[in-house]
Amino acid sequence: MSEFERRRRQAETHLKLQMMKEMSEVMRRTGLPPMAVMREAARAVGHIYRETAEAHCEPSCCPCGWCPQEAMDLERLGEALREASRSSRSTHLSVMQVLGRA
Ligand SMILES: [Zn+2]
Repeated sequence: MSEFERRRRQAETHLKLQMMKEMSEVMRRTGLPPMAVMREAARAVGHIYRETAEAHCEPSCCPCGWCPQEAMDLERLGEALREASRSSRSTHLSVMQVLGRA
């Protein structure tokens, strides 16, 4: 496994756990159904994209080298959402058990 892939998996695991924890808490506090909360989570990612992209369009942008290309970036985000949503049945059911606790 490449160093990039190792770090990518580490980020995926961390974000998945944290988002699951936060979304379960939001459902518990608000009583909103899972799809309403997941839609807000998707909107939050969209806002984070917008703010991060804007920060990278300024003259004194960060040294990471990312140059936002909105159409391609949003297509890739949509692909990631669709791809992860079609994961194996066992993964899907374990997620539903946690979400079902709201
Ligand atoms: Zn950067």
